[in-house]
Amino acid sequence: MSILVTGGAGYIGSHTVKYLRSLNKDVVVLDDLSKGHREAVLDAPLYVGSIQDGDLIDSICNKHHVTGVIHFAAYSLVGESVKEPIKYYENNVCGTLSLVKSLLRNDVKKIVFSSTAAVYGEPERVPILESDKTVPTNPYGDTKLSIEAMLKWAYEAYGMSSVSLRYFNAAGADPEGLIGEDHSPETHLIPLVLAAALGKRESITIFGEDYPTKDGTCIRDYIHVMDLASAHYLALKKLDESEGAFVYNLGNGEGFSVREVIDVAEEVTSITIPKVIGERRKGDPAVLVASQEKAERELGWERQYSSLAQIIEDAWKWHKAHPDGYK
Ligand code: UDP
Repeated sequence: MSILVTGGAGYIGSHTVKYLRSLNKDVVVLDDLSKGHREAVLDAPLYVGSIQDGDLIDSICNKHHVTGVIHFAAYSLVGESVKEPIKYYENNVCGTLSLVKSLLRNDVKKIVFSSTAAVYGEPERVPILESDKTVPTNPYGDTKLSIEAMLKWAYEAYGMSSVSLRYFNAAGADPEGLIGEDHSPETHLIPLVLAAALGKRESITIFGEDYPTKDGTCIRDYIHVMDLASAHYLALKKLDESEGAFVYNLGNGEGFSVREVIDVAEEVTSITIPKVIGERRKGDPAVLVASQEKAERELGWERQYSSLAQIIEDAWKWHKAHPDGYK
């Protein structure tokens, strides 16, 4: 009996694979390596291929006796999704549709889905509850919301149970330092701040300092990637006990401004990080903070690495040891 992890060579996927294996779970990874890294899978079994390859999924399900799936495989760049929406609908929505069809054919009826806080768009209030309105402001968020809807109806019609996990800002790295974040191009704040600390970039650009926040910069809820990993395990476990299509926010319930993130990074690294003030980035809400209480209550989720300093320390350990990522 194995757990199939699609996109298990990517950032959050690989940390989840490592976490599951630390619990002695049998895991099999499917990743096309278009974004992920073979090295990130460590020594877990890896199939290089597409989630749209039904024959491949049939053979993985048979050979590994797959009983549940954690589905990460997707494109996830907001800016790119605005420029190339069709690419995003094709890969994320059509890809998941094809995966769901293959899973149903193989009678696999438990799926944990990697969703995002981007489904909310501009929030009505913070902290954001799962029941708040979902009006994505970019195609990326819309593809994820469409998939949540697909999974809801797949439960009603076929009894395929699902948990959609809406992540806030995933950050940090494996505390053991074996795997970490390596995106190309990198767009996320913490790896870019640390690249500036390492001298790999000249400076960090702060995208706007005229937001209605305490210091004028955007506030986000940063959540350690290993805390995300444990939530995926608990979500799959929930589907052993209950049927339905569930949705949970995953965040720390606490917001930090861009300036605060840079300040903590300077403390952690003991390096003064050059900063430049830039324009606002299109589509960035001023404040995004999760209410994660539903996940705590219903999944029994307990965050182990909730301090921002710990998140940045673990990221720093990875980036210092791997300044060029997995290369
Ligand atoms: N940000 C920034 N400079 C950068 C990258 C990001 O000021 O070079 C800001 C961005 O505007 C946002 C926060 O940092 O308010 C987190 O951005 P990130 O891209 O990491 O995640 P997102 O919130 O878009 O999911």
